[in-house]
Amino acid sequence: MATPALLCSSCGFGSDETRCVKCESPFGKNQAKLCDSCGFGSDAERCIKCGDPFGKVPALLCESCSFGSAADDCVKCGGWAS
Ligand SMILES: [Zn+2]
Ligand SMILES: [Zn+2]
Ligand SMILES: [Zn+2]
Repeated sequence: MATPALLCSSCGFGSDETRCVKCESPFGKNQAKLCDSCGFGSDAERCIKCGDPFGKVPALLCESCSFGSAADDCVKCGGWAS
């Protein structure tokens, strides 16, 4: 099972909440994922942008960044996250 990627409350604040974490498009729609090693243990709760250990907000991908098999890519290392 892939781990959902998270943002801390400052990186995911306001309009940044729906920003695509890959291309910065403001229309994030789909949950970004982490592979088993990037989302292991306490890293699962780490903000993928700044490394803050208190990730709370789901990190999103826009439609083009999560198209097809890209939806199963780890946002951190690009590995398979499904
Ligand atoms: Zn994108
Ligand atoms: Zn952050
Ligand atoms: Zn990874």
